[in-house]
Amino acid sequence: MAEGVLAGAPDWLLPLAYLVASVLFIQGLRDMTHPRTATRGNATSAAGMFLAVAVTVLWFEILSPVVLAAALLLGAAIGTWLAVTVETTEMPQLVGLFNGFGGGASALVAGAELTEIFDRDAAATPDVAVAAAIAGIIGSVTFWGSLVAAGKLHGVFRRTIRYRGEHLVKVVLLAVALTAGAFLVLQPGVFGETPLAAWAPSYWVLVAAASVLGVALVVPIGGADMPVVIALLNSYSGLAAATTGFVLDNTVLIIAGTLVGAAGMILTVIMCESMNRSLPNVLFGGWGEEATDDEMDDIYEGEIQSTSPEEVEMLLDTAQRVVIVPGYGMAVAQAQHAVAELAELLEENGVDVEFGIHPVAGRMPGHMNVLLAEADVPYDKMRELEEVNPTFSETDVVIVTGANDVVNPKAKEAEGTPISGMPILNVDEARTVIVNKRSLSPGFSGIPNPLFTLDKTSMLFGDAKQSMQDLVNEYKENH
Ligand code: NDP
Repeated sequence: MAEGVLAGAPDWLLPLAYLVASVLFIQGLRDMTHPRTATRGNATSAAGMFLAVAVTVLWFEILSPVVLAAALLLGAAIGTWLAVTVETTEMPQLVGLFNGFGGGASALVAGAELTEIFDRDAAATPDVAVAAAIAGIIGSVTFWGSLVAAGKLHGVFRRTIRYRGEHLVKVVLLAVALTAGAFLVLQPGVFGETPLAAWAPSYWVLVAAASVLGVALVVPIGGADMPVVIALLNSYSGLAAATTGFVLDNTVLIIAGTLVGAAGMILTVIMCESMNRSLPNVLFGGWGEEATDDEMDDIYEGEIQSTSPEEVEMLLDTAQRVVIVPGYGMAVAQAQHAVAELAELLEENGVDVEFGIHPVAGRMPGHMNVLLAEADVPYDKMRELEEVNPTFSETDVVIVTGANDVVNPKAKEAEGTPISGMPILNVDEARTVIVNKRSLSPGFSGIPNPLFTLDKTSMLFGDAKQSMQDLVNEYKENH
């Protein structure tokens, strides 16, 4: 029965609205599987969410309309402000924060529902108590873990913190959370129905232990593994929402949460495969030391050849096939339009040009595809790692712009580095390699790159946008 503004509406209206919202979520996800329809997919899912939220707040007398309107307006204003002001390069940490807030909200809502039940001096049924305990644990781990992951991606702190007995600490924290959860679930059977004073602490002990666990889980994980962590926490936020849906007996929350949980888990598996790592290895295995700047200078001492836009233009003049490999630096410099223009010019002059896209290039899955699509690079020019790797041996010139870890041969050759075992783009197999970046600084993983010292490699030092624009101008002048 509708209680709020919709009092008197037929009972079937709520499940029907939830069904429509769920169909919109599923259609939206389907559209997001291709860059061409992804924007529409986003809008479709947002419409589904708007419908679900609107019908819920109108149907149930949850809060006073004034408080509700203020909360919705505030949330919408913050969301709009973030969407408009956050740079594309900062999107992964924003996604991380959104995951965290989703998890935190689930833990709080489950706690509020329990409190409401206990306030009535009633006992939570076992299914509600189990769901609330799971939502509390996963939601709290997600909230705190996501804050740490977002902080690492934003560069607030980058060092991995490892210590003796860290796994034992995590096991103890999990055991405390589970014991508090068991206490919550078993109390009516063991102690009889007890009032709030005896029940509530179990839930908040569980939340406290799971919160510390969230921090303890992510703090030791290194930067290069952050994409997997963000994808996994995304999945956790969905699971927390779905279990909160069971606490509230709300079908649309169960469906939306399950979709997010499943999508996040699939993405996690894809990311693990792209980095050639198992999930337990990402979560519990540390990796080797990062090199310091002094070590970096020693490694490159006397081994580097640099080049200029004029020289690169001459090289491109004789090339039949060119592969452009973009990375995080292209995103920072917003060089995608200059890069796209260079590719177009080369093609006009009969050169076969393709883009080699590594699945974790940049700072989020699909980062390069989104930027290149924005610059109107045709989708069939963007080649995935498995497609482009066999072609490097027949490629005359590879232009690496703002990429580092994804072309680092150390991934294949060295053990115990942050990227060991990660499949890379084998640009070192091409005839000539041009690496465009501003300095010899390392990439995200913090390790040196022996690609820079090869005889066939020349460094085109400079900001990616400026360098690509200089190259375009040089090419135009000579053609
Ligand atoms: P990297 O982080 O390895 O390297 C980027 C390079 O870009 C740096 O070495 C930097 O060198 C250069 N750069 C920065 N700014 C500019 C600029 N304005 N102009 C030109 N160059 C610039 O990037 P990759 O894309 O190769 O690899 C991605 C890394 O990020 C991987 O380790 C991956 O695991 C990790 N990661 C990926 C995520 C994802 O989902 N895709 C999420 C989180 C992390 P310099 O300072 O000398 O210019």
